[in-house]
Formats: sequence, structure tokens, C-alpha cells
Amino acid sequence: MKKVVKFGGSSLASSGQFKKVGEIIRSDAGRRYVVPSAPGKRFDGDVKVTDMLYDCYHQARAGKNFTNTLANIKERYQEIIDGLGIGLSLADEFDAIAKNFAEDAGEDYAASRGEYLNGIVMANYLGYEFVDAAEVVCFDEDGRFDAAGTDAKMGERLRGLECAVIPGFYGAKPDGSIKTFSRGGSDVTGSLVAKATHADLYENWTDVSGFLMTDPHVVKNPIPISTITYREMRELSYMGASVLHEDSIFPLRREGIPINVRNTNRPEDPGTMIVESTCSKPKYTITGIGGKKGFASVTIEKAMMNAEIGFGRKVLQVFEDAGLTFEHIPSGIDTFSVFVNQQDFEPKEQQVIAGLHRAVHPDLIELESDLALIAVVGRGMRRTRGTAGRIFAALAHAHVNVKMIDQGSSELNIIIGVENRDFETAIRAIYDIFVTTQL
Ligand code: ASP
Repeated sequence: MKKVVKFGGSSLASSGQFKKVGEIIRSDAGRRYVVPSAPGKRFDGDVKVTDMLYDCYHQARAGKNFTNTLANIKERYQEIIDGLGIGLSLADEFDAIAKNFAEDAGEDYAASRGEYLNGIVMANYLGYEFVDAAEVVCFDEDGRFDAAGTDAKMGERLRGLECAVIPGFYGAKPDGSIKTFSRGGSDVTGSLVAKATHADLYENWTDVSGFLMTDPHVVKNPIPISTITYREMRELSYMGASVLHEDSIFPLRREGIPINVRNTNRPEDPGTMIVESTCSKPKYTITGIGGKKGFASVTIEKAMMNAEIGFGRKVLQVFEDAGLTFEHIPSGIDTFSVFVNQQDFEPKEQQVIAGLHRAVHPDLIELESDLALIAVVGRGMRRTRGTAGRIFAALAHAHVNVKMIDQGSSELNIIIGVENRDFETAIRAIYDIFVTTQL
């Protein structure tokens, strides 16, 4: 078994955490390629090294003295090095960083040093070869990620290496300047390494034992999800449940490489397996419930709308012109609603109303705000009778008024619109009917 293992910032925040990680890696010879994040928070209120680096760089840019901030960052690594007893010196590296900061090497360069240094420490601790991500993760001149180039370079570089550490989060443009992914991007590097090495499994180690069926702030101790498909995860993640960086899914999905989300602090937990497809029957009809508050809906009414060619396109064009994306577009014979993020919509509200009047001459435009969307997701819902019936019965019992219903054509999800204030009650009612009452 060839495995790529990525460890998040909290898994590498201190020498104590590093030791746990070392044990995990050494306990399985298949764990050959390691992708570390930068040291994260050691406790609530602590600061991630990446944030310290951004801070330090901004001080340097403003012409301020950044010696102390850089010394604090060095201190974080020194604690790890001393705790591991590896006798490594990062003095030259820090001299180079200080010089480059003073010479304005760029914000991405600054942020990337957290992973870069942690990679050096990790490689030294494990006795693995260090491969600088700048050599193998490619961006084009405009800073766009180059998937094909990366796959080729990374594959070639790692082919001959039994074991290696590749720092997460960054790569380089053709001119050698450093470019990072968006925040949390070490997940993406992990999936790129897994793809390029044709790994059997990508283990993503973090501080939770995988995905829970729903938000633990809403339902107490929700059941962990043992297996979820990529599609189910997408449906849930766009509704707010994000454990993994979004862009880390696509490279692997096409390769059929599973991701196992694991907990560094509880390695005995199996975590969640994310797979392309599975015939393993989920224990419950639903896999999970996601949701998000803060939507607004714009309902356009016009008699004979269904006979008007191009009506939907014209409506959506108005939203496009205002730079707004839409979440859902439920429609009726003479009505068409567009659900949008309320915060994004509010400043553009009047522009949209005027645009709609001009574009489609509606009989009525109605706005509603403070709405929430809830996604009930599960491959087990397909070909199962009565799922929708159970959801709506449960919501009726809980006195929740349903404002909108939308079942995806894949039969993988049912989206329900409710008022913000009913959000938690609705999720609890759905969870209870599918899970608690089935235990
Ligand atoms: N260290 C980076 C961040 O804090 C990337 C990562 O941890 O994945 O966003």
C-alpha cells in the first residue's frame, strides 16, 4: 500500500504533536510521502505560524522593525527541534528569510516559509528526503495553477524516492517566484502528491475524527460518517461543513483515489473514508445534514411566464451583471425565485430590481430575507420511498414552516428553505427522525 499522509497545522503545532505524528508515520511502512502544514495553534487563542509570517512580512513592507516577530517565529520551530532532540539549525534559513523580507520577496513567499521550514524539520526528524514544493508544484506566469505541469514534474521527481517530505501550500511560477494556494491549501498539495505518485490512499490527518453527520453545535454528539462519496461530500461541503480544502477533491476524484480523514490525537479512530463510489450500504438513509443561514430570495411573478422563451436566461443575466452567484432557482408556472447570499445581495438589491423590470417586465417582484437552506444528503435516499415524506412530517411536528423544497435530480439531496430562526430546530428534527429514532 502506498500512502500519502498530510498533517494539518494543529497536528504539528508543537514537539509533542510532532512525536504523535512520527509514531503514526512509523507505524505503517506504506506512509511514504508526507505533506506537512505550518505549525498551527497549540491552544485556543494561539497564533498560527502562517499568520505570524503574514504579520511579519507586513511589518517589513511598512518599513518597520520585524526582528522580534521573526524571532518569535524562530522560537516556535526551536521548541519543536529541541523537543525532538534532532540538533538541527535553521539559522541560515532564517538569515535568508530576513534578507528576502527586507528585499520584498512577496507575500506568498512569506506565507510559504511556514510549510517550507516545517518540511525541513519533518524530513530531518523522519530521515526522509526533503523535496521543496517550489520544484514540483507549478503555477503559470499569471499565477494560475498548472495541473499537467505539476503532475509531470512531481511524478518524475518522486518516482525514484522511497520516502519524501513535500511541504504543503505553495509552489512556484516559471520564473521561480513563490505562489501559494488559498488558505488551508496544504490539503491540495497532499492530493497532488497522491495523484502524481498513484497512491492507494491519501490520509488527511487533522484534529477531528472525520466528518460528523451534522454540525455538533446544533446536534449534540452527532454520529461520525464512516464512508461518504465525493459527490455527497460536495453537496454537504457547499453547505458549510468544510474539513478539507475544496480544491483537494477534484484531482483525486478523477483518479479514484480515496481520502481518509483521520485524527492525529485519536489515531485509533477509523475516521471518514471519502470514495468515488461504494456499494457499502449506509447505516442510515441519510449520510449527513448540512446547512447555512443568511440567504435572501427574489421571486418574480409574471402571468404566462412559462410560454416566454428566454425568461430564465434574462433573469439570471441580471444577477450575472450584478456579479452575483445564485444558490437555487426553484420555479413555478408563473413564478421564478432566485436564492442568493443575503450579504452579497443587499448592496446590489436596487440594481437587481431595476434590472429585472427592464429585462422581463414582471407583474410582481417579492423579496424575502433571513432565510436558511438545509441540505439533506445521502446516496441511501436514491430508490428509497418516503424520505421526503419523513422529512416534512418531522418538520411539521417541529412547527417549522418550509419555504422552499428542491430535490436534486441525482436524488442525492433534498434542499429545504426555512427561516433563519427555524434553522437549528429543523436540523434537529431531521436528524432525530433519521438517526436518533433508529439507534
Ligand atoms: N498554513 C496554511 C494556512 O494556515 C496552509 C495550510 O495549513 O493548509 O492556511
